[in-house]
Amino acid sequence: MPEVVTAKAGFVAITGLPNVGKSSLLNFLAGGKLSIISTKPQTTRQNITAIVEDGAAQGVFVDTPGFLNPEYGLQRTMVRNVRQACDDDSDIILFVTEPRPPLPEELKLAELVARCDRPVYLAVNKTDTASNKSAAESAVEGLKPHLKIAGTFFVSAKTGAGLKNLRRTLLDALPPHPHYFPDGQWTDRWERFYAAEFIREQIFHLFSEEIPYSCAVEIEEFHERRNGPDHIRAVIHVERDTQKGIIVGKGGKMIKQLRENSTPEIEKFLGRPVRLELFVKHTPDWRNRKDTLELFEYL
Ligand code: GDP
Ligand code: MG
Repeated sequence: MPEVVTAKAGFVAITGLPNVGKSSLLNFLAGGKLSIISTKPQTTRQNITAIVEDGAAQGVFVDTPGFLNPEYGLQRTMVRNVRQACDDDSDIILFVTEPRPPLPEELKLAELVARCDRPVYLAVNKTDTASNKSAAESAVEGLKPHLKIAGTFFVSAKTGAGLKNLRRTLLDALPPHPHYFPDGQWTDRWERFYAAEFIREQIFHLFSEEIPYSCAVEIEEFHERRNGPDHIRAVIHVERDTQKGIIVGKGGKMIKQLRENSTPEIEKFLGRPVRLELFVKHTPDWRNRKDTLELFEYL
């Protein structure tokens, strides 16, 4: 009799303070560049899904943006994303931290996560930067009283240390369930979504201070063509009129650079050539409006 392999599938919420390396871990676990990475905190605005398949298991990973004071509408959305990802949408939770004692905000997040009543796995990331083992252990000791931890992993998204084991453990911990998505298939929505994310990532590289945080990228058109490059038309929405000129630059220099930087990133992801058109539009106060947040799919 052939061995019967039971399918496993489920949602894994990755949570942790900004900058601890959630996106980097997700990228590594998914085996490709999916979630955007930046040295500036708070670049991940939306839950990002990556699918990790391994044998009979399919893990759907959701990157939950860090915990913030609900000062802006956008930030309220982020806090809600964390709650939602932990409460409703996940089977297991991966709590990511760094090799140091927990910070006060981290303990608050741990409390929120503990209330979700899901198995929590702890990943102490950036162990490549830790000078000794006790730094990593201080993270575990500090969090233990606040979280029931199902498993602890000392990892590095930079060197890859410990990640194979983490990936295997998380996939094994998923419940028996038919796969949620067809194997090896990316939806059109994801292609659009990631195209916008890659442009946003390049905005972070090219512009400083408040500019990147004031921009939202909307993909207006995404035409897949058989005999030629895909045609992508993206609109960069800025909060203030004066920011339009900054994005465009002298004689269109900056927006040209942005297009040149973004195109190969999108092409690498899609595996197809792309013709990218970029426009800038003033959309006042988009961060605090329900209609615009919905349009940009942050809600
Ligand atoms: P997120 O805000 O939690 O999603 O964090 P990111 O994945 O964007 O990472 C924040 C910063 O930490 C980036 O500069 C990463 O390159 C860096 N980083 C992430 N993981 C590691 C790691 O394991 N070791 C080191 N040295 N740096 C890391
Ligand atoms: Mg991130």
